[in-house]
Amino acid sequence: MHEWALAEAVATSLSRYIRDVGTSKIERLIIALGELQAIDREIFEFALSEIMRSSGIDVKSLELVTEEAVFKCNACGYEWRLKDLNIPEEIRESIHFLPEAVFAYVKCPRCGSPDFVIVKGRGLNIVGIEL
Ligand SMILES: [Zn+2]
Repeated sequence: MHEWALAEAVATSLSRYIRDVGTSKIERLIIALGELQAIDREIFEFALSEIMRSSGIDVKSLELVTEEAVFKCNACGYEWRLKDLNIPEEIRESIHFLPEAVFAYVKCPRCGSPDFVIVKGRGLNIVGIEL
């Protein structure tokens, strides 16, 4: 039910926003989901539509886009993306399921250091609102 909690959080900030601007209609809403955010898009989309409807927010078009995961090495400063790595599908899946798993499988492709941070690709962001 994690999707419903996320949808609830999005709807709460949206209703605050549209109350401030004085409308109840959103033409287009774009939400970026991190590549490492374990989320079922269909459930999330459904949950968000339901919550918005019951909050009286009219969203004409909802778009979900993917924010690519970006990592940065703490040792050498190199940045890379998940798709730059040649990792097997089953590991890729466990990373999607549990982002922390990335630390068990991934090392800096340049210097081999296991000391890196996830710069992008976690969480969820509202990236566009058209009224
Ligand atoms: Zn490195």
